[in-house]
Amino acid sequence: MHTKYDVVVVGAGPAGSIAARTAAERGLKTLLLEKRQEIGSPVRCAEAISHETLIRYIEPEAAWISATVHGGRIFSPNGTPVVIQQPNVGYVLERKLFDRRLAETAVNAGAEVLVKARVTGVINTDDQICGVTVRYHRRDHAIQADIVIAADGVESQVARWAGINSTHELRDVDICAQYLMSNLDPDVYSPEYCDFYIGRELAPRGYVWVFPKGPDLANVGVGIGGTISGRNGKLAIDYLNDFVRTHFPEGRVLSQVAGCVPVGDSLPEIVGNGLMIVGDAAHHSDPISGGGIANAMISGHFAAETAADAIAAGDLSAEFLRPYPERWDEEIGKNFRHICRIRDGVMKFSDKTFDRCAQVLNKLSPEKITMREIFKTVLLHQPRLLLELRHLIAPGWI
Ligand SMILES: Cc1cc2nc3c(=O)[nH]c(=O)nc-3n(C[C@H](O)[C@H](O)[C@H](O)COP(=O)(O)OP(=O)(O)OC[C@H]3O[C@@H](n4cnc5c(N)ncnc54)[C@H](O)[C@@H]3O)c2cc1C
Repeated sequence: MHTKYDVVVVGAGPAGSIAARTAAERGLKTLLLEKRQEIGSPVRCAEAISHETLIRYIEPEAAWISATVHGGRIFSPNGTPVVIQQPNVGYVLERKLFDRRLAETAVNAGAEVLVKARVTGVINTDDQICGVTVRYHRRDHAIQADIVIAADGVESQVARWAGINSTHELRDVDICAQYLMSNLDPDVYSPEYCDFYIGRELAPRGYVWVFPKGPDLANVGVGIGGTISGRNGKLAIDYLNDFVRTHFPEGRVLSQVAGCVPVGDSLPEIVGNGLMIVGDAAHHSDPISGGGIANAMISGHFAAETAADAIAAGDLSAEFLRPYPERWDEEIGKNFRHICRIRDGVMKFSDKTFDRCAQVLNKLSPEKITMREIFKTVLLHQPRLLLELRHLIAPGWI
């Protein structure tokens, strides 16, 4: 380990590895620090990603793909399935191997990686972040950097150390519990589809997912709204157990994870002097699905490109780093605000309304059912919401 780098990236998840790879590809001396002893482990993810976003950053490899997905099935509260058929639309990954592979591509591009290296603080001189302190091999080290990229996930501390309030409002997070399960009832489980179950009883302010990992293996999980957790003494794990009892009574649990996903708007401030915040640390996961792998890679990539421009220009100020948030907002962030409003409206639906929407959608042939068609149907069942979202009509959202 050297004591001075152009870029230090904190956290070797998808955001951090892509940021480190991009910075190294741009010729920057780059260090990627990961607190865990093994990159990608333990996995706290349902591991689904679309083909379209994955291939922006890496070609699919059999070693880290558990299953190819050919569409989705959304089950309304009374069990009516709405089937969206999209051959080869995405994958369920083996995240542990995927994350390691991404870090390997960063190393191949020239980045240095240290595991079991826990960042413990930032070096802040005259309101300029110029490095980090790290605990490594039972010793504390100070590492200087022109730019620090905070890719330290949903529980991010780096932003806070730098004086940016990155706290999540409880209403803007989903609390999740998930089992990896085998012995699944073939009448309920399909290895072809990602299944989503919605309903106020089943998963208030969230949904249940069953994502295929093999012919008889799946991630079965539930996310519930942060404000719901603990209400009536019920936690996410209790909702998950209820679902498993009714849908997979013979299923066997092979592992269990719990976690939290940001489902609100992006963090308003994602750059500071010498600092950039990416991925879950910047609240960049999708406000409806909670999916964040793709967005983490995209923001890591955008941030590192701007970092390279700033270092080349010798200007590390927050002002000079603004192209990163602007690019994020232009491509993805601006849609978050619309998505949040749609979500808040949909969350008010009764189970009966969801059932009626499913009935209407099922009158279409499966190839005609698209996400846009679903949005339209849902909105037509809530005319007040449609009025509120009329500005989405012109850009073609609805
Ligand atoms: C139950 C659950 C299911 C999910 N399912 C999906 C899904 O199906 N599809 C999808 O797209 N997304 C899903 N997500 C979200 C997805 O996992 C995240 O959005 C994604 O991992 C974000 O990537 P990241 O690189 O920003 O952060 P992370 O992957 O969390 O990586 C952050 C890294 O930083 C390291 N770190 C933290 N602090 C320090 C420190 N001080 N020093 C050094 N290292 C540090 C951590 O150890 C970690 O490796 C799910 C999340 C949960 C909880």
